[in-house]
Amino acid sequence: MSEEIEKVECLIIGSGPAGYTAAIYAARADLKPVLYQGLQPGGQLTSTTEVDNFPGYPDGVQGPEMMMDMQRQAERFGTDMRWGIITSADFSKRPFRLVADESKTILAETVIIATGATARWMGLESEARYNGHGVSACATCDGFFFRGQDMAVVGGGDTACEEASYLAKLGRKIYMIVRRDELRASKAMQNRVMNTPNIEILWNHVTREILGDGKTVTGALLENVKTGETRQIDVQGFFVAIGHTPNTELFKGQITLDENGYIKTIPGTTQTNIPGVFAAGDVQDHVFRQAVTAAGTGCMAAIEAERFLAAQED
Ligand code: FAD
Ligand code: NAP
Repeated sequence: MSEEIEKVECLIIGSGPAGYTAAIYAARADLKPVLYQGLQPGGQLTSTTEVDNFPGYPDGVQGPEMMMDMQRQAERFGTDMRWGIITSADFSKRPFRLVADESKTILAETVIIATGATARWMGLESEARYNGHGVSACATCDGFFFRGQDMAVVGGGDTACEEASYLAKLGRKIYMIVRRDELRASKAMQNRVMNTPNIEILWNHVTREILGDGKTVTGALLENVKTGETRQIDVQGFFVAIGHTPNTELFKGQITLDENGYIKTIPGTTQTNIPGVFAAGDVQDHVFRQAVTAAGTGCMAAIEAERFLAAQED
């Protein structure tokens, strides 16, 4: 049982672009935010190298460096930054009751959930070895590095089709590696990839190994699961698009999630079904999944939290 109880006006859960941006705005609005960073301080971008598409860095920036910049900016305005995780949440009444590190109870007037999402991986050793060196889970982020080259996309859902279509405009040849003899994607997305001349779908294929020269990806070893035959493809970029898992396990049964586990927000806002609880970033966005959109919704969440608190005082 937790013994220590703390009251906070605005609790921010997560330290990616959404959480840090929410903290900058909440701190400047004098909400005295407390932010729990979670197991990955700085969020997903700490696992990447070059970030080229975040405005304000004309020469690009290393992901970890950019996240340290955001952290410093949030701290500059007085965010109470804490290393630790929120381990339970009870949104049944306000103030909301949350527990940090299974020991400390926090009573929060408002909560901003910015716990992000985690890309699913195939689980190959070579996939982990070349992650960030040719292997990626984000075509919008990394496709540009392989323009004019050959690439592969694993997966048969809408995301894989979208990634393949995007890469087809940048690259020479795109292989889609699909483990069954049909796509899971919607008909419209299927038509799009099937009508793109430089996309070749490799049906019934799985990846056995991602090949490289020790530094970057050079190809992949595939197996046809119907015939058992193996083949090698030469590619420089290897994109895994087999889905994301939103980090919402903690909130199941407490807040409305969609069928894929993402937090549902009222369109055009960051409001959840619980007044006073807001969600920002990838945890509520399976469409855009970009640092700048996460930051944008973090800003919205803090402004909405501030207005919510002001309305309670009226
Ligand atoms: P995240 O960055 O996912 O952060 C979630 C945070 O929540 C983490 O700090 C975690 O520790 C915390 N957390 C989770 N659970 C708890 C808990 N229970 N208690 C406390 N804290 C918790 N986007 C771009 O725009 N440009 C790029 O170049 C780019 N490159 C990418 C490269 C890679 C390898 C990856 C994986 C993603 C990339 N993205 C890029 C996507 C971008 O990283 C995400 O869209 C963005 O980080 C989402 O931000 P977020 O704040 O929603 O969540
Ligand atoms: P998804 O629909 O779950 O599809 C995942 C795909 O990856 C499936 O084809 C699956 O194969 C394959 N896969 C899973 N694990 C694999 C593995 N280990 N090895 C090889 N392949 C593997 O995920 P998603 O495409 O990310 O879409 C998630 C949700 O977002 C969906 O509801 C989707 O409609 C939606 N979405 C919509 C749009 C849009 O409308 N524009 C865009 C993106 C996403 P199987 O089919 O064999 O299981």
